Amino acid sequence: MQMLHPFVGSIQQYSEAISDPDRYRPDHCPQCEAQQPLTGHGFYCRTLVDLGFDGVIRVRRYLCLLCKRTVSLLPEFALPWLRFSLTLIALFLVARLLRGCTLAAAAAAASQTAMPYQRGQFWVRRFQTQAPALSLALAPLAATGPASDFVARALRMLESIGWIAAHRFLFAHLRMHLLGWPAFLAPDGRMATLRPASPPA
Ligand SMILES: [Zn+2]
Repeated sequence: MQMLHPFVGSIQQYSEAISDPDRYRPDHCPQCEAQQPLTGHGFYCRTLVDLGFDGVIRVRRYLCLLCKRTVSLLPEFALPWLRFSLTLIALFLVARLLRGCTLAAAAAAASQTAMPYQRGQFWVRRFQTQAPALSLALAPLAATGPASDFVARALRMLESIGWIAAHRFLFAHLRMHLLGWPAFLAPDGRMATLRPASPPA
């Protein structure tokens, strides 16, 4: 399963910080009752596009020796199953849906001037689908002023809470994906069947 790694800093600093397996080692297993630190289990690699970055990052993995399941520490600036960083998607959605920019202008606001417009539409659709659930889930964290619709309300809440703080809350407490889990992982982002741990990379 994925856990969020509460990391603040540049991607370069993140890469250095996770080189040491002890630094963020979970002291217990989140998936079973084992109350012992997890064992380092290498990394997996994933692509990430952020402001000023387009490449591959490593994600630290740990293994529980009792239940034999792995836990990966996904940095919280990345969204599970999406290649683009949360910061970048947030800039796009705010420009498009809150400020009413065109798709091209919203892409420029996210420093993605060459982006195909379908990508932005995909984010917009996912956000619109998720907006009612977000408005409800984030209510404990933000005052809800008058808003014309769920999309505007959810965006204002995210802006006031901070997108990364909201993502942390949704993911850690509710297993909720800010833009919605892909259908094959719905409703809570977990694989339906357990798979044995793969060997460390
Ligand atoms: Zn376990």
